Amino acid sequence: MVSDEQKKQNHKERQQKLKEKVDERIAAATEDKGLLLVITGNGKGKSTSGFGMITRSVGHGLKAGIIQFIKGTWECGELNLLKQHGVKSHVMNTGFTWETQNKEADTAAAQLAWQEAKLLLQDPDIHIILLDELTYMVTYGYIELDDVIEALNNRPAMQHVVITGRACHRKLIELADTVSEVQSIKHAFDNGIRVQKGVDW
Ligand code: ATP
Ligand code: MG
Repeated sequence: MVSDEQKKQNHKERQQKLKEKVDERIAAATEDKGLLLVITGNGKGKSTSGFGMITRSVGHGLKAGIIQFIKGTWECGELNLLKQHGVKSHVMNTGFTWETQNKEADTAAAQLAWQEAKLLLQDPDIHIILLDELTYMVTYGYIELDDVIEALNNRPAMQHVVITGRACHRKLIELADTVSEVQSIKHAFDNGIRVQKGVDW
């Protein structure tokens, strides 16, 4: 039988070893860099993650920009708030593509939003940019993948960019520094519950 005292001691030793390993890894990570982050997958939490990073940045006094490539039917709570804190933003003036059903209009709206995104991507005073739902623009061919890659590669060295949306193109995933895939385990919508203010928009 292992005594309670021995269990406590074993736990302490394991935690101490773990702390040493974590401290080593923290000490080894010394670089600073403008990061490209991709938040993709079918689960809920992609845009809220992107908006969360913008909010964090604004909380630190950093300058941020947001381009929303698909305007939902509901106004966006985070954007309402962040605009009051000087965040530059542009919202594509069309709804979901299955609602507009007009490829030319969608392409024109996407291109307009992309021009605004490119201005931010050339501005060294902007610390972080959220390109919300950009993945669909590339998938639908509204914006050229090569154009996106070029603009990302030529952006200021310390500028962070967050791309969100399902089914992100493989080349953007390769280019990114940090990629998270949000997996859906269940969603209230599947049980007939409509979108809820504050949780979904
Ligand atoms: P959020 O903005 O809540 O972080 P998201 O960006 O991950 O969500 P989108 O695909 O952009 O997800 O969809 C936005 C809307 O669709 C939100 O209202 C969200 O709750 C809902 N939604 C997200 N994932 C699912 C899902 N797996 N099934 C049904 N509805 C979903
Ligand atoms: Mg989203």
